[in-house]
Amino acid sequence: MYRVNEIFYTLQGEGAHSGIPAVFVRFSGCNLRCPWCDTDFADGTMMSAEAIVEEVLALYDLPNERRKMVVLTGGEPSLQVDKPLVDALHEAGFYICIETNGTRPLPEGIDWITCSPKYIYQSEGRSNSGAVLQQSGLIAKRSMLAIRHANEVKVVFTGTYDPEIWREQLEAEHWLLQPLRYTGEWLLETGCDAFEDDRNDNLDDTVRYILSHPFWRLSVQLHKIAGLR
Ligand code: SF4
Repeated sequence: MYRVNEIFYTLQGEGAHSGIPAVFVRFSGCNLRCPWCDTDFADGTMMSAEAIVEEVLALYDLPNERRKMVVLTGGEPSLQVDKPLVDALHEAGFYICIETNGTRPLPEGIDWITCSPKYIYQSEGRSNSGAVLQQSGLIAKRSMLAIRHANEVKVVFTGTYDPEIWREQLEAEHWLLQPLRYTGEWLLETGCDAFEDDRNDNLDDTVRYILSHPFWRLSVQLHKIAGLR
């Protein structure tokens, strides 16, 4: 059984598959506490693999479509996704993507792995602390990744450390930087004073970084621009 927060059909809004329709299965629970996390993954309903596939198929009722994509996300889906679920989704004809923070091993057979490494903010139990964010360049050098390869790596660009550190730890075909959007409310709620002087998103800084480090490319949240979930 799997604890599932929600299952819905929309466009993939981030990364190399941006704009492609997919059914998203959001699993409950995460092992990290990122200060900018905008995902409500706490609640969940216990479901079997068969029940998940049934609901995914009900949302993606296009039998002649060759490219049926499902995205396993969270929370942190690797806490729950296993080979039986992967096999059940493959048997139903789906191309399986997963969005993981990379801190846990993955079952075999997943077709597309998006790793968004963020473990640094969990360090030493001081998540949500501006001090940790400012020190994150040092903390991030501790290797806590459980995977070594992904199809794409998507890094939230905070401007507080050099994202090149991830290239020492992961192999991937696509390297994406995503600007962090933060608001005054968010800062007040989390007490994260690392960004207090700048309450706009750091899109300009992200673009400047990519122009001088052209290995990376820009990833924005297309679903938010399009007003989708
Ligand atoms: S890893 Fe993802 S889901 Fe987990 S806390 Fe961080 S942003 Fe949220």
